[in-house]
Amino acid sequence: MFLYLRQIQTIAVPFFFSEVAHTLHRVMATAGQVIKCKAAIAWEPNKPMVIEEIEVAPPQAHEIRIKIVATGVCHTDLYHLFEGNNKEGFPAVLGHEGAGIVESVGPGVTKFKPGDKVIPLFISQCGQCKFCKSPKTNLCERSWSNERYDVMSDIDSRFTCRGKKVLQFMGTSTFSEYTVLNEIAVAKIHDSAPLDKVCLLGCGIPTGYGAAVNTAKVEPGSTCAVFGLGAVGLAAVMGCKAAGAARIIAVDVNKDKFEKAKVFGATDFVNPKEHSKPISQVLAEMTNGGVDFSLECVGNVEVMRSALESCVKGWGVSVLVGWTDMHDFSARPIQLIAGRTWKGTLFGGFKSKDGVPKLVNEYLARKLKLDEFVTHTMTLDRVNDAVELMKHGKCIRTVLNVSRQ
Ligand code: NAD
Ligand code: ZN
Repeated sequence: MFLYLRQIQTIAVPFFFSEVAHTLHRVMATAGQVIKCKAAIAWEPNKPMVIEEIEVAPPQAHEIRIKIVATGVCHTDLYHLFEGNNKEGFPAVLGHEGAGIVESVGPGVTKFKPGDKVIPLFISQCGQCKFCKSPKTNLCERSWSNERYDVMSDIDSRFTCRGKKVLQFMGTSTFSEYTVLNEIAVAKIHDSAPLDKVCLLGCGIPTGYGAAVNTAKVEPGSTCAVFGLGAVGLAAVMGCKAAGAARIIAVDVNKDKFEKAKVFGATDFVNPKEHSKPISQVLAEMTNGGVDFSLECVGNVEVMRSALESCVKGWGVSVLVGWTDMHDFSARPIQLIAGRTWKGTLFGGFKSKDGVPKLVNEYLARKLKLDEFVTHTMTLDRVNDAVELMKHGKCIRTVLNVSRQ
């Protein structure tokens, strides 16, 4: 096949075929070899990432090497860099919200081929383990996170840089021109999907949207409150609206976020900085006793408590979406004894390999918003600028263009 393509490229063939041949030739020429490419490396916590040349080993059995085309920057990347404080999780290539094209596949891979459009998944779906077989959860026993949740990375990485092993953050590492994943952690998506938009379906949007529709199971006519209006919170607002909520109260300490929340369906806006009372009391007064559903999309244990206490007794459901593993949380037992439910969600409860291609199709059918989340677009070289924007609440999502398609 390879030789055949080389031949047809050199003789006079119509332009289209010569282009296809050229593309395939380029895709396959690197197969089986170590690729040297650009990646942003987080060498240590609390320091800017550094753009370096790294070596990416060829995929092993059941693995896929992917050329990353675009990636979002999510708060979980910032959490690892600035908040998590686990030195063992470095050096690493961060990024877990990407989309790309299959460059080559390892032995035994039959469902993917070079040229396929794909989204790397930070939760795998092997389809075989007891969790994958249960409709009750989207966890997968073969996920990197079962072994190394503490370092938030897959230590069995295919990356090296300056002679050192570099970890694959969340098993994905999308701040790199190339990355390698096991096929159980890759979703094949529609050929016409724009990768610089659907990359957001690798994390933030399914997380918030699914938290509302899958985990909270928001009901038509209900009243909801969403705490934190980053991409995750705004996606939760979008999920509440899709589920038919009558009232969606958007809560954020940054008032600049409210305008955007309106676009996704928020009906009321509360800035805790403008109230001296606890925010749960403010919401109780606005809603005659509390909301039916609340979603914490900040990653702060105090906010988690306040989201729980904002729920109405009897049936209120509060979902933890924000990511933190630094502190215990607390609440008075009476909150739960009185009938409230406290739950958490990873990736919005979506079974990743099944769910992501469906969400891509919903976006293509204009049933799901994605473009509205993208406030900035940059190249990978500016990854630290994207981080600064998020740190200072100046963006919703920055999409980094990593390599040309
Ligand atoms: P972001 O930084 O863009 O948004 C966070 C928002 O919370 C900001 O608008 C900020 O102003 C607001 N906020 C901060 N303190 C607040 C307070 N006290 N009260 C109300 N609002 C407050 O982050 P993001 O990318 O949208 O991610 C949100 C959270 O979701 C993070 O903790 C992230 O790690 C987590 N996350 C969880 C999962 C999961 O699977 N559970 C997946 C992705 C992200
Ligand atoms: Zn994320």
